[in-house]
Amino acid sequence: MRFKEKYDLIVVGSGPGGFPAAIIAARAGLDVLVVERNPFFGGLMSSGLPALAIIDRSGRKVIKGFTEEFMNRLRSIGGATQDYRAPIQNSLTYMNMSWVRLMVNEMFLETGVDAMIYAELKDVKVIDDKVCGVSVFCRGREYSFSAKVVIDATGDADVASKAGAATVKGEHLQPASLTFDVENIDIDKFAKYAQSHPETIKLPSSFPGIVQDPFEFGRHKTFATMCFFDLIEKARAAGDFTLPRNMIDFTHQKDTDRAYFNVTRAINLDSTNVEEFIEGEQTCEHQIFEIMRFLRKYCPGFENCTLGSVMPYLGIRESRRIVGKKTITKDVLKELPVPDDTIAMAGYNVDIHGQDSEKMSMLPVRHAIGIPFGCIIPEKIENLIMSGRTISVDQTIFGMTRIMSTCMAISEAAGVTAVLACKNNISPSALNVAEVRLYLEKQGAVIR
Ligand SMILES: Cc1cc2nc3c(=O)[nH]c(=O)nc-3n(C[C@H](O)[C@H](O)[C@H](O)COP(=O)(O)OP(=O)(O)OC[C@H]3O[C@@H](n4cnc5c(N)ncnc54)[C@H](O)[C@@H]3O)c2cc1C
Repeated sequence: MRFKEKYDLIVVGSGPGGFPAAIIAARAGLDVLVVERNPFFGGLMSSGLPALAIIDRSGRKVIKGFTEEFMNRLRSIGGATQDYRAPIQNSLTYMNMSWVRLMVNEMFLETGVDAMIYAELKDVKVIDDKVCGVSVFCRGREYSFSAKVVIDATGDADVASKAGAATVKGEHLQPASLTFDVENIDIDKFAKYAQSHPETIKLPSSFPGIVQDPFEFGRHKTFATMCFFDLIEKARAAGDFTLPRNMIDFTHQKDTDRAYFNVTRAINLDSTNVEEFIEGEQTCEHQIFEIMRFLRKYCPGFENCTLGSVMPYLGIRESRRIVGKKTITKDVLKELPVPDDTIAMAGYNVDIHGQDSEKMSMLPVRHAIGIPFGCIIPEKIENLIMSGRTISVDQTIFGMTRIMSTCMAISEAAGVTAVLACKNNISPSALNVAEVRLYLEKQGAVIR
């Protein structure tokens, strides 16, 4: 059989919370299996989204280590841009979705990670509160694997939930969205319109202190904007815009006539409910028709725009989170601490898409906070490490930690934790955090 029955580490999910851990662990000599339900690797990172807040609001680069290596490899083949400072998102790094997907596979091949696509987690083997393996359903066949350690990078905390670990969900979950590319945009015309109509980019009071400069927009500039607040109101009054959204959010990449749109919205959707997930996908696909009509009819510069690619699957912002040994709560926003047991930094703002309304809010955060080790370790279940967006934070802090660069930094820490747990033959929860931190710093990760 191509796959083994026993692994040191199984990583479920190959998104930004999954693939860095797998590669780091394989480089350190662990036998690693990645289980991924999609027919490609990279999760939402292979969907064209830009990486945000690699640089925090104070101007400090807070995500380095493996993430920097990955971005530099992408850059070397024209698959990623430099990190651009941005008034709303702190910084933006554009990635080519196809290169991301191919690069993750390339690095799995290089490092000897066994990677299984089309493979959905079926169950988790737990003995005496210790995770010891998973079963997987792959194209009609069931596989069973044992492992010393499992990393849950599913985004939905599927492993933790099946293992019986305590998880939580916010009362109102952030909406799901299907993003898409729009081509043939006259960016100069849009820029001129924004310069002469500042109301179109005036952020509401839910973005306190964040101001967009229309002179930053233009054909040769890379930028992200939230705009057309005024035109949506006009279109809504005319019955031409019915979506639960009060602005258009797009990111434009330098020297192209293309932009990436984050506008569709499926509200009141719980991705752990299969039927709601399917309905959400269909709802968002349907909304793209209306958005394209709106852009062509109302928006200067978009009169002749055409639809490019659509995200490969519905993007879920929020679902389950683990209850960890430690939890970051919104109290940290007063002091913005970087505690002594920090294993990754979160340098974004508190970005919450209106949970049951059309609005969103962005609370700027002065500088990065530290994520303590205990946030990736479940309260009770052993041999399980959480990574990506499922770590132990409250719903407000989740608005900060959910972005891909932070998920990659967390994944690096999860990988190092797995390496040290396997090498010392102990459960991740029993590790000395100082040892984890030393290893991370040797890899160039920022943890202070
Ligand atoms: C619409 C939208 C726009 C966003 N925009 C941005 C942005 O511009 N910039 C940014 O940095 N962040 C953005 N985010 C947030 C960010 O993309 C996610 O929070 C981040 O990708 C989470 O990483 P992850 O690895 O935890 O999960 P994911 O990227 O979702 O990866 C999880 C992986 O696990 C796999 N998986 C899940 N369950 C199973 C299972 N049971 N069995 C097998 N495999 C499984 C999935 O197929 C997937 O590949 C956005 C999110 C959404 C939804």
